[in-house]
Amino acid sequence: MNRLGPLRIPRSLLDPVACLPPADREGLATVQIEHVEGRITALHPVELPASRQLPLALTPPVDPHVHLDKAFSGASFPNASGTMAGALEANLRELGQRRGEQVLQRAGLALERAWRHGLRALRSHVDSQAPATLEVWEALQQLRARWAGRVDLQLVALAPLGYWRTADGHLLARRVACDGGLLGSVVGIPFSPLAWDAVGLEALLTQAETLGCGLDLHIDEHDAAPAPGVRALVRLLERRGGCRVPITCSHASSLALLAAPALARWADRLAAAGVAVVALPFTNLWLLGKREGTTPLVRPQAPIQQLQAAGVRVAMGSDNVQDPWYPGGDFDPVELLRLAPLLSHQLPWRRRGLAPFTSEASRLLDLPWDGVLREGAPADLLVLGASSWGDLMARPPQRRVLRAGRWLPPPEQEAASALLAGLEVPVASG
Ligand SMILES: [Zn+2]
Repeated sequence: MNRLGPLRIPRSLLDPVACLPPADREGLATVQIEHVEGRITALHPVELPASRQLPLALTPPVDPHVHLDKAFSGASFPNASGTMAGALEANLRELGQRRGEQVLQRAGLALERAWRHGLRALRSHVDSQAPATLEVWEALQQLRARWAGRVDLQLVALAPLGYWRTADGHLLARRVACDGGLLGSVVGIPFSPLAWDAVGLEALLTQAETLGCGLDLHIDEHDAAPAPGVRALVRLLERRGGCRVPITCSHASSLALLAAPALARWADRLAAAGVAVVALPFTNLWLLGKREGTTPLVRPQAPIQQLQAAGVRVAMGSDNVQDPWYPGGDFDPVELLRLAPLLSHQLPWRRRGLAPFTSEASRLLDLPWDGVLREGAPADLLVLGASSWGDLMARPPQRRVLRAGRWLPPPEQEAASALLAGLEVPVASG
């Protein structure tokens, strides 16, 4: 038997029926954890003076939206303008020469970093209308099998709506269904006219139902009009009496352009339709509202709290990592968590502030574990070198990651250290 702690853990990530102290002002409870053979056997309350500094710990987060296939491609295919048009152009050039072997290498690196940073599951979209689509899909399937149990991977085949109605699209959709994947597309402006989208969208819904695949749509990732894609989707679902497979709206940024009463009504309708939303603030704040020579005044992102208030399931993801769509990121959930209070006013000391990274993200991906610590749950923790949320926001913390009761090797820092080595240049005297 192993015992860990005392640790300060968000009360919302501890068994709600366990006999534990209530949350303090930071939403945290102090506990010790016992675990045997990778499973938790007991949670013990600990009473200590409030002044005692203890490590903050979470259960390993889940990232519901990344793009493993293009991660780390930004250095070779830069987007110097930083615009959406520039991103699309560089993405298409990169896609034209993309091979399975490259994706195996890049996505393998991404999974390694995600794992060491403490992520336990990812959902990745995969560009799927290119000469190498099948070999890229197979490369990612290989990685999915290789990483199962460390970073569980869900794959969404991402193609234009019209592609799913072609013979090649039907074949790919059947392959995706066989592999347990999801179907994905881009709905609404700026990528396609909406009148045509409605026909393609209905066909995709029917196809997903027939094959039993979940759907995950890039939708309303723009600042041009208030959510035409989401509104079209909700109307369609209401007209056809719902959909038998789970639907996720990724981005849903321009919902934020609706006036407050209209937003509340559409949030209610989204909730009634059972559609989940993934908020992606990094890429939205990087791309939206960008006009050459101006500082943006409006950069819409999914209105997380209004959606949560209506009962919509909302998770938060990192989206693009070091690719033409966003030059930053490192598959690091702590960075997103640290910045979420600033980017999106998601306060992690509140239950709804933290849930999009943990329990709601787990439920959105339909994972076997909701990320709540209880007897029998995995002995998985992300322990931070920070003693409070303020401490976490103040500076990037060191971390230790426990998976199935064993500590992982720390994230590599060699690259950064190597940059700083050799600053002192020996100079011959005399
Ligand atoms: Zn995306």
